[in-house]
Amino acid sequence: MIKIFEKLLDLIYIKYCYFCKSTKDDSLLCSKCYKKIRFMPYGVLRKEEGCNIYACTIYDGIVKDLIKALKYKRKKNLSAVMSRLMYEYWQNVKTDDKFLILPVPIHKTRLKERKYNHMDLTADSFSELTKYISDKKFLIRIKDTKKQYNLHKKEREKNLKDAFIINKDRKIDKNTPLLIIDDITSTGATFNEIIKLLKKEGYKNITALALATPDIWN
Ligand SMILES: [Zn+2]
Repeated sequence: MIKIFEKLLDLIYIKYCYFCKSTKDDSLLCSKCYKKIRFMPYGVLRKEEGCNIYACTIYDGIVKDLIKALKYKRKKNLSAVMSRLMYEYWQNVKTDDKFLILPVPIHKTRLKERKYNHMDLTADSFSELTKYISDKKFLIRIKDTKKQYNLHKKEREKNLKDAFIINKDRKIDKNTPLLIIDDITSTGATFNEIIKLLKKEGYKNITALALATPDIWN
């Protein structure tokens, strides 16, 4: 019922670009703003614990606004833009594996504040695009970690230590290719912590994908 209602709304209202307010393209992200996005070269960004980490774009301008709006301004529909950008990138680097998507979870206290985990929403639309299944309940965040952006690498690692557990009620085959998704990766501390946990639990095929990474080359 809700879906039908949303479709009706789509027919009535012309979408405007969230970033420049233009209605020209009838899209949440117009072609002009899209062109400002700096995609990363196709390939592995780095390795963590022997696993491939990918980042789709540079964290600046439009991408920065996108993540902030989706995370803090309740612009939930921007998750479709985020997953679309990730999908575009992913199509150029993916292997033939049928991945299981694992969005990075937030702590239940944060969930209460924000009402939703933006990465869960992104996992849903990314799953529609890739046809991969997602499991939003497999990883659980048990530590309400401090904000990371002003912490150094070592502090980030300490902050995130033992922050996650896996949900033992979910039976996932240890050979299943897992794809962890997050909004930003900078020092890689979050991915690293989750990868270490999954490896300890016997999972063998782990990959991580973030929408953005800070521009450290300039
Ligand atoms: Zn625009």
